[in-house]
Amino acid sequence: MKVIATFAEARALCSGFIAFVPTMGFLHEGHLALVEAARGADTVLVSLFVNPLQFNEAADLERYPRDLERDAALAERAGADVLFAPALEEMYPQEPASRVSLPALSAEMEGAHRPGHFDGVATVVAKLFAGLQPQRAHFGRKDAQQLAVVRRMAADLSFPVEIVGGPTVREDDGLALSSRNVFLEDRPAALSLSRGLFAAADAAEAGERSGVKLEGIAAAELEDAGVKPEYVVLADAAAATRIPDLDREAFLAVAARVGSVRLIDNVWFGPDGSADRGMRLPGPSILYGGD
Ligand code: AMP
Repeated sequence: MKVIATFAEARALCSGFIAFVPTMGFLHEGHLALVEAARGADTVLVSLFVNPLQFNEAADLERYPRDLERDAALAERAGADVLFAPALEEMYPQEPASRVSLPALSAEMEGAHRPGHFDGVATVVAKLFAGLQPQRAHFGRKDAQQLAVVRRMAADLSFPVEIVGGPTVREDDGLALSSRNVFLEDRPAALSLSRGLFAAADAAEAGERSGVKLEGIAAAELEDAGVKPEYVVLADAAAATRIPDLDREAFLAVAARVGSVRLIDNVWFGPDGSADRGMRLPGPSILYGGD
């Protein structure tokens, strides 16, 4: 695997069918599942860039975990051919005067609670697509609204790239993997998010179709654990807007602060109401030092 830092090197090195996995690094099994899904392409390209444009809290950006050496070893083992880890100056040689913005898909949920976040995501992903020209790009359904934003951005701007969504990878106790989990102090409280979502998924599979009821089932688990949800929303999977009934492809999304860590999670629903709860690891994640 080659580790490179410039778009020029990427253009020189990547050939044939390029499958691309954008990340902010501090890789875990959720990222690695996307890299594994990308295998089989002529070039499996992983990017690692902590994008300041998408952070709306300076403290969150500053303490975001970073470890290039660790990430390079993990990416290589998962099957990456090229790791693109640009410096800030390569991504933004000057303050970008162009921004990509999808107000209709950014009005609710994460967009409402993190002003400017999806403009930052859409802008950096558009730059990566333009600079790296992948034929396929892999994103996690863990960030369901982000997946909707990226899909729509690629379609609106005619990027010739297929967007592939991968299942949410969870620890054996149900917690969705996130690089920020290394800062988690109150794990029992954090588990209320997945527990609530799974309870709602069970209800949906037993026939419940009311958005308000499904949201209420999930919210009750958080509240019982003393966790105050920022939102619990049943949303149309493509439009990323709240819907009254589970009558199409959708996701039930939740966000909450647990101590100093802000967590998001969701379950995905097929048009028939079947739930995708993601995949569970058999043991502890590599996030905590093991492998
Ligand atoms: P990040 O490094 O957090 O920007 O995430 C990079 C990519 O990995 C995004 O497409 C995320 O949706 C995806 N991802 C993050 N956590 C998970 C997870 N637990 N399961 C599946 N995909 C994930």
